[in-house]
Amino acid sequence: MLIMVNLDAPREDVEKIKNKIKSYGCTPHEIPGSLKLAIGVTGPTSKLAAEDFMRMDSVDEVVKVTKPYKLVSREMKKEDTLINFNGGAVIGGSNLTVIAGPCSVESRQQIFDIAGLLKEMGIQFLRAGAYKPRSSPYAFQGLKEKGVEYLNDVKKELGMKIVTEAKDSNSLAVILDTADIIQIGARNMQNFSLLQEAGATGKPILLKRGMAATVEDLLMSAEYILSQGNYNVILCERGIRTFETHTRNTLDLNAVPVIKKLTHLPIFVDPSHGIGIWDKVPSMALAGAAAGADGLMIEVHNHPENALSDGFQSLTPKTFKLILDKLKQLAPIVNKKVN
Ligand code: PEP
Ligand code: MN
Repeated sequence: MLIMVNLDAPREDVEKIKNKIKSYGCTPHEIPGSLKLAIGVTGPTSKLAAEDFMRMDSVDEVVKVTKPYKLVSREMKKEDTLINFNGGAVIGGSNLTVIAGPCSVESRQQIFDIAGLLKEMGIQFLRAGAYKPRSSPYAFQGLKEKGVEYLNDVKKELGMKIVTEAKDSNSLAVILDTADIIQIGARNMQNFSLLQEAGATGKPILLKRGMAATVEDLLMSAEYILSQGNYNVILCERGIRTFETHTRNTLDLNAVPVIKKLTHLPIFVDPSHGIGIWDKVPSMALAGAAAGADGLMIEVHNHPENALSDGFQSLTPKTFKLILDKLKQLAPIVNKKVN
């Protein structure tokens, strides 16, 4: 249920509404909009009657939310969510944000070299994993604390924003001060306790779609984060498993317009994991932008042939620059601007 309140409502009216919601054992969530203040209700809402709220002062409308996910739904909030960062960067709305960087931090030199080149190209968000959830226990697992230390140095010295993965509670605690965006990987999309823990930090979270997850599963996982009071969630389509074997995954671009309709949260596309083959990444990056994505996350490595993870799908800085230029040309067609 969603209770729409006039923007000029006295605070005491809003508090009365919230207290009434709580008296039913439900939780109120204030969602400010440009026209109305929405008070979302979660919990055992079947006990609530719309008429009881309609009679209260300052209430304009009571709307039933029909979807199983509540706080993430467009029914709850019509306007796109914008995520603001220190320094003026904004994700969502008319922005097409490009997050780029290597799959993993491999050494201080490696991450500084690539970050420097990306910064020169105007990239504000650097991605790189220090904790890597790998399919094989024998594969490179990341530099862990040392990797976070190097990312923190990049953040301080180059002023870039850092996107890095929390694999579990321990790694979440280690990356917390360094990460501007906490990445939750495909393999952890339904690790609900990690979602709640990461949500409770209040930091922006990039939530990747699980490889066998439906759009509804993804939205329900995002709901776990929003239900912690954290609205700064970015969804990410990164390819799903299908019967096709020519590509690493099948990038489900259908999900982009579907998700844009169902939720106010920004949706990114990761063409690198989505197709998994470097020379085909540019096509899918452009396709993702054309589908209306709010951003792209692309793996870039100075020496893909020597990368410790995902080299085969990583672009060289030179190829990445070509695609970035094309994205800048394409963005206005979908009413966006590359930032
Ligand atoms: C990654 O971004 O490097 C990664 C591990 O992605 P995913 O969780 O989508 O497999
Ligand atoms: Mn990777």
